[in-house]
Amino acid sequence: MKGYMIDLDGTMFHGKKIVEGAKEWIDSLVEQDIPFIFLTNNSSRTPAQAVQHMLDMGFEHIEEKHFYTSAMASVSYVSSHYSGRKAFYIGELGMKQALLDNGFTIVNGTDDLADVVFVGLNRNANYEMYSEAVKHLVNGAVLVGTNNDRILLSEKGVNVGNGSIVAMFEHVCDKESVKIGKPYQPILDEALKFMNMKKEDVIVVGDNLETDIALGVKFGVETIFVLTGIHKKEDIERLGIHPTYVVERMTDWKG
Ligand SMILES: [Mg+2]
Repeated sequence: MKGYMIDLDGTMFHGKKIVEGAKEWIDSLVEQDIPFIFLTNNSSRTPAQAVQHMLDMGFEHIEEKHFYTSAMASVSYVSSHYSGRKAFYIGELGMKQALLDNGFTIVNGTDDLADVVFVGLNRNANYEMYSEAVKHLVNGAVLVGTNNDRILLSEKGVNVGNGSIVAMFEHVCDKESVKIGKPYQPILDEALKFMNMKKEDVIVVGDNLETDIALGVKFGVETIFVLTGIHKKEDIERLGIHPTYVVERMTDWKG
């Protein structure tokens, strides 16, 4: 039995609205006891907030154990690849919680210098906060972006994505960020550890060819491209990113 790594935005919901077929498919996974996680580049929500967000729109049987975010992957990756545990972060509660859960000391608002600067989306960040991050980075802190999405789509249109903020820090400090989120390998490796499964035993599900499907294609994991979100069937040829399977909606998937 394969397990699923499932994208959220455009695959499970649009804003606060459930995507057609998404709830029925998740219900069927739960009923058959098939392992799955929601694998998201969104670092803003904690798993508890993410559960509530989905229950509020009408999903059922969703638990905290089902969520693996780019914030969790970033902290887990840094824990096993770097020794420093003093962190400065830009982010929301999901980022902060991941740091505290993994024994990091947060230096925000203190005179202490950080070993690592984590950059996740914070919709209330300002110039002062960015400049404080730069102080740590020029003093030798490692730059870790939770994800490199250039743009973020919402009901209001196109917004600045976390990847664009990370690129700003790379430019300011002339150093490259450690890349974690989809389509980069760290989030896949960390998520496999979290699920306690091998890559041969999972399928990546998503609406975005450049993040979800590219992750699977690059690292030898099967993929299901669902046509409920950002990319259309024609984009497969245009982008040259070829999923293993393509479905209109997840209830069409007979795995
Ligand atoms: Mg998506």
